[in-house]
Amino acid sequence: MLGSIVLFGPPGAGKGTQATRIVELTGKPQVSTGDMLRAAVVAGTELGVEAKGYMDAGELVPDQVIIGLIKERLKEPDATSGVLFDGFPRTIPQAEALASITDVSAVISIEVPDEDIVGRIVGRRMDPETGDIYHISFKPPPPEIEDRLVQRKDDTEETVRNRLDAYHEQTEPLGSWYRSRGLLTPVDGSGTIAEVGDAVASAVIGL
Ligand code: AMP
Repeated sequence: MLGSIVLFGPPGAGKGTQATRIVELTGKPQVSTGDMLRAAVVAGTELGVEAKGYMDAGELVPDQVIIGLIKERLKEPDATSGVLFDGFPRTIPQAEALASITDVSAVISIEVPDEDIVGRIVGRRMDPETGDIYHISFKPPPPEIEDRLVQRKDDTEETVRNRLDAYHEQTEPLGSWYRSRGLLTPVDGSGTIAEVGDAVASAVIGL
């Protein structure tokens, strides 16, 4: 039986957007550490207070914090047949911890060149009422909701550079780590949202 799936790729690759498609296809719940951390920041919990400084600076939150969060999440009843991880794991210690607590069946890697990433992230906007994600050029919002859209605090050009550095230094090596374990399925992430969605869907169907 198909266990958990990891959606892997740089910030702005479209992991959150494509996760919806995989959830529809597999019925597995999406587990996004970024979304969980943002909810903790808004709720003002101890975790949120600790994570906020790292997130605002575009740095990774320490492994032990993230691993603890995931261990708790995987105890929920909807996680028993595996989940779709989005934005986790981001370091080799996180991947090692994950391997010891759950079965990872596949890692879908959305590959996007660096030069495309900044434009994708800086143009990203969120609808706070629905959580829907838009892009001012690639996925324009309906005009009637434009005024209420917000930009993530870490989606500015300056922070994106730090997030990309963190990605290259700490997260990218995980690609080879998973490849050497026969789990990595690369997908070309440079097309339109629909094109990438089709490529992701074929990868998932082929698992
Ligand atoms: P994301 O929404 O996945 O881009 O995550 C936003 C921010 O949350 C990242 O820049 C990190 O500061 C933090 N974060 C999310 N997931 C992780 C993770 N797996 N490990 C460390 N930090 C994370």
